[in-house]
Amino acid sequence: MKLFFSTFALLVAAFFANAQINPLQINPNIKLPKDSIESAALISAVNNFLAAAQKPDEVNKLVFETEKIETLVLLNKINGIEKNTALKDDHFYRPYLTNIVSLNSNEYMVQISYIGVNKNTTFLRASFELIAHRINNGFLFSSSLLRNAKGWKTEKVGNTIFHYQTIINKAKAQEFDKLASVFDKKLKAINKVTEFYCCENIFEMQRLTGVQYTSDYNGRLHSVWSSTLGDTTIIILGDNNAEFNDFDPHDLWHERVSLVSLRNQINRPIDEGCAYLYGGSWGMSWQAIFKEFKEQVAGNKNTDWVKAKETPVYFKTKGFNNSADCIVNALLVQKIEKEQGFAGVWEFLNCGKAEKDNENYYQVLEKLTGITKANYNEKVWELINNYPQALPIEQDKL
Ligand SMILES: [Zn+2]
Repeated sequence: MKLFFSTFALLVAAFFANAQINPLQINPNIKLPKDSIESAALISAVNNFLAAAQKPDEVNKLVFETEKIETLVLLNKINGIEKNTALKDDHFYRPYLTNIVSLNSNEYMVQISYIGVNKNTTFLRASFELIAHRINNGFLFSSSLLRNAKGWKTEKVGNTIFHYQTIINKAKAQEFDKLASVFDKKLKAINKVTEFYCCENIFEMQRLTGVQYTSDYNGRLHSVWSSTLGDTTIIILGDNNAEFNDFDPHDLWHERVSLVSLRNQINRPIDEGCAYLYGGSWGMSWQAIFKEFKEQVAGNKNTDWVKAKETPVYFKTKGFNNSADCIVNALLVQKIEKEQGFAGVWEFLNCGKAEKDNENYYQVLEKLTGITKANYNEKVWELINNYPQALPIEQDKL
């Protein structure tokens, strides 16, 4: 046995020298499984998992496959967890085993806290739980989300699945699925499934996902966590949405685009323009926002839209800042969609990241509309002045 442990210790040391992460700290008061071989194998597996959790999800082979997407939500919180930016220390926080309990002959519940100490002050970074599943002679890991949601109810509407505790707003659920389908049809996104877990706030959301504490959300009440795997996205709503009484069509557009596009190809200001046009913003319709834009920005006839693209001009609606350039993009998207269908908008949207001189933007815009940087200002003024008579798009006909 002694030989086994010293070999094991060497292996662990070699592994961590290579992976450069902190090994699991085990205080003497922690009750480990009685079988020392089982105990060593389990601790080794937890260490391997915590190391793998610092790498991209695609290369982490220690996730329990059937609960992968649920576990990705938790992995998102563990990735980079040792780092303390203020102290410029990449390995400041160390993992401490706080509990390990056999749930049945094949599963253990493992609780871990990441703690760092600086000048006699202790900092708790996060505490969370994992389920270790025995597979053949080793262990794979999952979050406890599915176990924690066991008693929850489920409502399926089209390609959207809602998990909730007491009641669900069925009309809102249908409205969501309908709009998601409209967006997916435009984007040619097929069979995309969205699974919601509806929670009231961060406390509920953390309890559900097996996070006891994370300092990132210290002092906050609301947030939304999510993960995507293949065609499925799971979204944990922790924003006053236990009954799914609300969703934001603007954000829904961004989410659907992100399912089918490469981040570095999408032009962010055009994507914003689409989101305003198809989903309004912060509960205001596109028409209401356009009216504000016309009064607050386009009321100044000296506005130069080429300059407004390079040096952002903002206007306020309900206390929120809106970039005038995004509204101009919405008008251009509307024009392109009317003349060429969404295929043209897709090409425009994929013109590449916003650059300083917007060369890529003007190149694709000219190809699609004939508008160049030289006549951009004049053409945008025409669009603004002719709206809405020339190009009406009603929200319900999207
Ligand atoms: Zn947006």
